Amino acid sequence: DSALVWFRRDLRAHDHAALYHALKGARRVWCAFVFDTDILDPLPRADRRVEFIRDSVVELDETLRHLGEQHGRADVGLVVLHGKATEWIPRLAVDLHVQAVYANHDHEPASHARDAKVRGLLADVGVMLHTAKDIVVFEADEVMTVAGTAYGVFTPYKNAWLKQLAPFYLKPYPVARYADALAPRPAQHRRGVPPLRDLGFEPTNLHQLKVPIGTRGGYELLDDFLERIDRYHETRDFPAVKGPSYLSVHLRFGTLSIREVAQLAWERSSAGSRGAQTWLSELVWRDFYHQILHHHPRVVGHSWRPEYDALRWEHGKHAERLFSAWCEGRTGFPLVDAAMAQINQTGYMHNRLRMITASFLVKDLGIDWRWGERYFAEKLNDYDLAANNGGWQWAASTGCDAQPYFRIFNPVAQSRKFDPEGRFIRRYLPQLAKLPDTALHAPWLAKPVELEAAGLHLGADYPEPIVSHNDARQRTLQRFAAVKRTR
Ligand code: FAD
Repeated sequence: DSALVWFRRDLRAHDHAALYHALKGARRVWCAFVFDTDILDPLPRADRRVEFIRDSVVELDETLRHLGEQHGRADVGLVVLHGKATEWIPRLAVDLHVQAVYANHDHEPASHARDAKVRGLLADVGVMLHTAKDIVVFEADEVMTVAGTAYGVFTPYKNAWLKQLAPFYLKPYPVARYADALAPRPAQHRRGVPPLRDLGFEPTNLHQLKVPIGTRGGYELLDDFLERIDRYHETRDFPAVKGPSYLSVHLRFGTLSIREVAQLAWERSSAGSRGAQTWLSELVWRDFYHQILHHHPRVVGHSWRPEYDALRWEHGKHAERLFSAWCEGRTGFPLVDAAMAQINQTGYMHNRLRMITASFLVKDLGIDWRWGERYFAEKLNDYDLAANNGGWQWAASTGCDAQPYFRIFNPVAQSRKFDPEGRFIRRYLPQLAKLPDTALHAPWLAKPVELEAAGLHLGADYPEPIVSHNDARQRTLQRFAAVKRTR
C-alpha cells in the first residue's frame, strides 16, 4: 500500500509526525508541497514569507533526495505543485493511487476549513486523510483544568503544562529509520521547485538581510542561541541586544521541530538555567494561544471579553491619519518609530517593541487593535494568527489574561528603560543619531542648542509628537470606563 505526505507549515524532513506515520504505515510514500493560491493570491507581490517558504522548500526537496539516496532510492524528492491545494491534493492522491494522505494538524480556522474540504474529497475517492499533532507540544485538549475546561489564564495553564511535560511528549520521530519507503517521483513530477517569479512574486530583501533559511538556517540560529540562552531572562527585553532566539519564523514554518527546541530548553531549565526556564515559558505562551484559538475561534475579529467589542475607537479621516503615521513610523516617538522601521524593513520586530507599538496604537492613538493586528499580519515573517491575535489582545487589554486596561505604557519611559543608550533608536533613525542620550527618547523636550548641535530641525527632519501621552492616557481610561459603566 502507498501514501502521500502533504507538507504545509512543517518544512523539514526530520522529527516530523506525518512523515513518520506515513513511512511506518505504507510501503511506498510520496511527499508533496502545494504553493496554494488560496493563500498566496491575497498577499502583496513581494513577500518575505513566500521567499522564505520557497527557499526552504528547495532545501526540503534536496534533503528528501539525500534521504532516499542513503536508502538506495533514486529520484526521491518533493512533488511541488502550484494552484489550489483543495484541488491538487485529491487529484494527486488519485494519480498516485495512494490509500492514505498524511498531514500535520494546522489549527487556524481557515486551515480547518481547507482540511475538512480535502478530507471530504479524498473520502469520495476512498482515500483517508490522517492528521497528527506536530506543531505544538500540547494540543488544545491535552492541558485542561480539573473541571475539564480550557484554561483562559496563562499562569495556571503554564503550571499544568509543565507538570504534564514528560520525555514522551518531546521524543523525536525517527524518520530516517523508515526512509526506505520513500518512493521515486513519477517522471511528470520531477520538475523541482519553481522560481519565485513563476509563482507570481518579486524577490525581497530576505537574502540581503541574511535571514537564515530552511532547517540548516534554523540550526544555525539555534546553535548561536544556545550559547546565550542562560542569559535570556536578563537580555530579552533590550532590543539593541542580541537576547532572543530569532527562531520564530522557523517555528512558524516548521523548519525546526518544536519538540527538539523544547527538549533543549527543558534540559537546561531542569539543570537550573534561569534563562532557559524563561525561554521555555515563551514556548508555553505559544501553545497557550494556540489552544485559545482552538477553543475560542471568536477571538478572530472579536475581543475575548465580549464587553470590549463595544469600545468606541477613533474613526474617520482622523483615525486613518494617525494609523498611517504609526504604520510609517512618523509618530514623533523615537522608539515607536524605530520599531516600525524594523518591521517595515526586516519583517521582524523585537517582542518588547511589539508590546510597545501595539500599546501605543491602541492606548495613545485610540485605534482599534484589529487594524494593528492586520498590519502585523501583513508584515511579520513569523506571522501566526494565534500568537498575533493573542499579543494584540493582550496589549489592548481586550484579551484573555491581558494586561489591565489602566496599565498604560508610557512610550518615553519604556524607551529610557529598554533602550537606555538609544542604540536601537540610532540604528533605525539615523537622523536622530547625534542627539544626546538625554534628548533622544523625547526630542521635543531637547534644548534648542542640542537640536542645533545635532543638525536636527524638528518638524522637518523628524516629526513633532502626534499626540500628548498624558491626554491620550485620559482618553483611554475614559474609553474603557464607558464600557465598564454600561455593563
Ligand atoms: P524568543 O524570545 O526567542 O521566543 C522563543 C519563541 O517563543 C518564539 O520564537 C515564539 O515561537 C514563542 N513566543 C515568544 N513569545 C511569545 C508570545 N508572547 N506568544 C506566543 N509565542 C511566543 N509571535 C509569533 O510567533 N507570531 C506573531 O505573529 C506574533 N505576533 C505578536 C504580536 C504582538 C502584538 C505581540 C506583543 C507579540 C507577538 N508575538 C508573535 C510574540 C513574540 O513577540 C514573538 O514570538 C517573538 O518576538 C519572536 O522572536 P524570537 O523568536 O526571537 O522570540
